[in-house]
Amino acid sequence: MTTVKTFIQTHILGLPRVGAARELKFALEANWRGELSDAALEQVGSDLRARHWALQRDTGLDFVTVGDFAFYDQVANHVQLLGCEPARFGFTPEQSQLRRYFAMARGLTNGANADANANDNGHSSVNSDGQAGCIHADLAEHAGCDQAHRGAALEMTKWFDTNYHYLVPEFAPETVFSLACERLFAEVEQAQALGHAVKAVLLGPLSFLWLGKEKAAFERLSLLDRLLPVYGAVLNRLKQLGVQWVQVDEPILGLDLPGAWRSAFETAYWQLNQVGIDLLLATYFSPLEENLSLACRLPVAGLHVDGVRAPHELTSIADWLPVHKVLSVGIVDGRNIWRTDLDAALAVLAPLVAKRAGKLWLSASCSLLHVPFTLAAEDGLDAEIRSWLAFATEKLDELRLLKAALAGVAEVTEVAAEVSEALAISRAAIASRRASVRVHQAAVRERLATLPDDLDRRASPFARRQAEQRQRFQLPAFPTTTIGSFPQTAAIRAARAAHKRGALDAAGYAATMRAEIAGAVQRQEDIGLDVLVHGEAERNDMVEYFGEQLDGFVFTKLGWVQSYGSRCVKPPVIFGDVSRPKPMTVDWTAHAQSLTALPMKGMLTGPITMLQWSFVRDDQPRAHTALQLALAIRDEVADLEQAGIGIIQIDEPAVREGLPLRRGGWDGYLDWATRAFRVAASVAADRTQIHTHMCYAEFNDILPQIAAMDADVITIETSRSDMELLRGFGAFRYPNEIGPGVYDIHSPRVPGRAEMVRLLDKASAVIPVGNLWVNPDCGLKTRDWTETEVALRNMVAAARELRQRH
Ligand code: GLN
Ligand code: ZN
Repeated sequence: MTTVKTFIQTHILGLPRVGAARELKFALEANWRGELSDAALEQVGSDLRARHWALQRDTGLDFVTVGDFAFYDQVANHVQLLGCEPARFGFTPEQSQLRRYFAMARGLTNGANADANANDNGHSSVNSDGQAGCIHADLAEHAGCDQAHRGAALEMTKWFDTNYHYLVPEFAPETVFSLACERLFAEVEQAQALGHAVKAVLLGPLSFLWLGKEKAAFERLSLLDRLLPVYGAVLNRLKQLGVQWVQVDEPILGLDLPGAWRSAFETAYWQLNQVGIDLLLATYFSPLEENLSLACRLPVAGLHVDGVRAPHELTSIADWLPVHKVLSVGIVDGRNIWRTDLDAALAVLAPLVAKRAGKLWLSASCSLLHVPFTLAAEDGLDAEIRSWLAFATEKLDELRLLKAALAGVAEVTEVAAEVSEALAISRAAIASRRASVRVHQAAVRERLATLPDDLDRRASPFARRQAEQRQRFQLPAFPTTTIGSFPQTAAIRAARAAHKRGALDAAGYAATMRAEIAGAVQRQEDIGLDVLVHGEAERNDMVEYFGEQLDGFVFTKLGWVQSYGSRCVKPPVIFGDVSRPKPMTVDWTAHAQSLTALPMKGMLTGPITMLQWSFVRDDQPRAHTALQLALAIRDEVADLEQAGIGIIQIDEPAVREGLPLRRGGWDGYLDWATRAFRVAASVAADRTQIHTHMCYAEFNDILPQIAAMDADVITIETSRSDMELLRGFGAFRYPNEIGPGVYDIHSPRVPGRAEMVRLLDKASAVIPVGNLWVNPDCGLKTRDWTETEVALRNMVAAARELRQRH
């Protein structure tokens, strides 16, 4: 590649840090097991950084980014950098910084607490190395558990609308800050020693405060005055180290911000700018909208904007941003895995080159943390589909190409032959994807074109259906059920692994799974549950299982993306029109039903959850893909019904997390998302009972839309909130039946009958008792049978007690 001397510079906001082969994950887990020393872990981190910087330099980026590395989470790094570790941990000076860091991330390691948090707290993603997915929050707020929570991990929550989870800083009126950690500066020195041109990255002070949580009644923005001098000190140190550019991430500029927060930006950046180091203010994930002119006029040396999520704002930003400032355009999609249409990107960039003379940078839209590391390992992918993809490493190449091509445009020189060749390859891939019959299936299109208007409506309103279903199932009051999965035993995992290896044939595998199902049915009958499930033994993961059987999906070998800490997920790729070649769950479910006279609940994953937990097509709106998924699930519902299954659950734990970052987008999204669910469900006759399940989430602001999904029964995670969550449903007069979780499945603790009775009493106070179900919070796949059986027996006993009382 000829190096092109030009004023256009390239950089990235951050790289995935876990490593191409998830080296960091394995090192971390070895360290936590006590098998790898802290020094050795530090060495793994240092090697990864060195490799990742070398990659950036070798691709021709003008800077390497320093500060994107973290052993667990970048926000947690800032908690240490800024000296605000919560006092509740009671850290002592003897504890090393790394030990304190892991204590905040995973909980204090004295007792079962640490493990419970590390394994189960706050992940909502699929495929997380064998964990069921759920969203939880407010662990530290759990009522009446002071003792256990003093050393509980920092709460974890989603990083904007991604599937990455950050550790939530805790703020109180007495919180003070100090420059308390040398790690960032050591990393800068490491990069400098390796001869790199360094751009450091920090999470900006306002986003840091915004993303944290108040642990007392006060306004955390009031801490800004105390925080800014410490940011000033950090910038000063970077300046002393000879760093010219510091990228300061303020993604909250893409949110609907209260006025006080918006105006705080002006004073904060005025103050930080006094340090005299070049600040690149980085925004991403959503349009700036009303914050656009604010972002443009802040006293910083440059502004990075997300040109993928907000291409429509580029022209006005190029006009508004003073000419002496750098404009960094995030032109390569940092949130998805598709190859960039370079011609389209060049068309967007060309006018900016003229406008931003000497001051144009190119980048990915956001940190590449959210995409897998490299395509190089994906030799199992179909070659044509592979040619359509670009993971982090390939995106760096795209930046290099764009820069080279633009240099040609700008300097009116001949575009180097190599560049035009690379552009031609890229162009061919884009064209092949656009025209491919594997992407565009005529049958799917035709079906979509001729959908009847009432496709998303059940035959009768809920009251009619409820009467018919009561007649049919004759369930007792407070009917008991579970959420779907039962313990994924060692036998199940061994059989699956053997089958994958080829050591167990399809018949042998099926026989093992059928036996597991039979075992689960037997246990449920013994326990005395009213509505049974088959237990999901045959499923490794609730999205992958369906994706593997649908047309339009592919799976990568090593397409891991960090979810939190050492946990990575491997999202499926939806590349084309989705359709269902044949039934997916009917055999297993019918087998389970044949073993019992009790109702067997069919178990499906809903369209929005499949969409949210996959990489999705960027060549059609997400709403279209959701509708295609919905039709595929609808076919499965129809087949289950045909096979005599009377109760069918369609899990939708990801509905809430799909909400756009800005309120303005909520209605549109909720319209098509809830319609997709109804399309999937409403093929069911009135006498068929449709359930849905959602994990812990803030439901209160979307209750009308949840009601509009019109599931006959919804089960939700509530036990950790002590049924508080249910109050919203009660106040809203949620019309259909509801099963608030009465036991926390994320902890090995077995709940007693009395405590579940207490929760059910609380539930009965807000929901009409005729509408209440009794069930755990979520699936039980991460638990073992011993504790599960005891807990479920207690749960059934609690339900019986309630029946007697009412
Ligand atoms: N049916 C799924 C299970 O029980 C639901 C999982 C989820 O909500 N995340 O595992
Ligand atoms: Zn759940």
